[in-house]
Amino acid sequence: MTDLPIRDELRGVEPYGAPQLDVPVCLNVNENPFPPSEQLVADAARAVAHAVRNLNRYPDREATTLRERLAAYLEREAGVTLETSQVWAANGSNEVMLQILQAFGGPGRTALSFAPTYSMYPEYARDTSTHWVTAQREADFGIDPDTALKAVAEHQPTVVFIASPNNPTGTAVRLDLVSTLHEATDGVVVVDEAYAEFRRDGVPSALSLLGTHPRLIVTRTMSKAFAFAGARLGYTVASTAIIDVLRVVRLPYHLSAVTQAVAVVALEHAAELQARVAQLRDERDALAAWLRDQGLEAAESDANFVLFGRFADRHAVWQGLLDHGVLIRETGPDGWLRVSVGTPEETTAFKVALSDVLREGT
Ligand code: PMP
Repeated sequence: MTDLPIRDELRGVEPYGAPQLDVPVCLNVNENPFPPSEQLVADAARAVAHAVRNLNRYPDREATTLRERLAAYLEREAGVTLETSQVWAANGSNEVMLQILQAFGGPGRTALSFAPTYSMYPEYARDTSTHWVTAQREADFGIDPDTALKAVAEHQPTVVFIASPNNPTGTAVRLDLVSTLHEATDGVVVVDEAYAEFRRDGVPSALSLLGTHPRLIVTRTMSKAFAFAGARLGYTVASTAIIDVLRVVRLPYHLSAVTQAVAVVALEHAAELQARVAQLRDERDALAAWLRDQGLEAAESDANFVLFGRFADRHAVWQGLLDHGVLIRETGPDGWLRVSVGTPEETTAFKVALSDVLREGT
């Protein structure tokens, strides 16, 4: 390995990823715990069969049907009217964000975000040779506007990432902060709304700012609310001019015909999937309340997970839960752990295991 002519910044680096362990209760990667319905499975199987019959041909490079359906979905979900040319799709929002840095980052350029936040951002920056900087969030994990403005003035980023709701804290930002940052920078402002559908009532989506904020980019995914993590479908919404730049850096035919076909089917089932989202939001609020009843802290969450703590030895608690067959995530600031909202049965298993671990530890 050391003899290989690899880039210095990749030397000795392990591939990113949470442990994929075979455990009865997996609450570690913020998946939707409910599998697709049998009706969706049947419809997707038909659509896949049709796509496979044409796999001798390359897929629609522009993914036009899918982008039209995504625009229609967002119109219903967030009340915004969009042109198809303002929507772009790729293999997970991970790929979308890499494309954003390929287009707007690069050598000699800086990307800024607010820590603690999603741990993949620095990896996209490294992979595109973009300089990576962070400013700190407040004790309640919100972003202080003065701190944010100071960081923009100091670092002059060409890309600002704001995860809202944020991973791993669950914190949603106010839209006036997005506006303030957009005004303060000449760069693009990316609001990563991977968990947007789980936001509490009255929390608006940054999509509502698109008409007045020409350098705003909003990214979303079907991995969470749509229970479609395995399909790998992320998407982004911005001005047509920004989307046209992303189309320059994408690989040809990057989105397979099979992916496009199943994503269109999932969008046709959006209503049934949204009912599950409502259930998960209720489960999240109940879980946060339960954690606080145990004398623990639980961060306010607009996502499908809860960051809780604090523990003098969080690894011991994480390991204790794993020994009880419950896998959660050891991530975020020291002393905190993150648990995804599961099915009611999984949440019960988590509560029982955590009660045992905390009792055994005292
Ligand atoms: N953004 C955030 C904040 C996330 O937590 C995740 C997934 N954990 C993603 C983006 C990427 O999701 P995907 O690539 O599955 O769309």
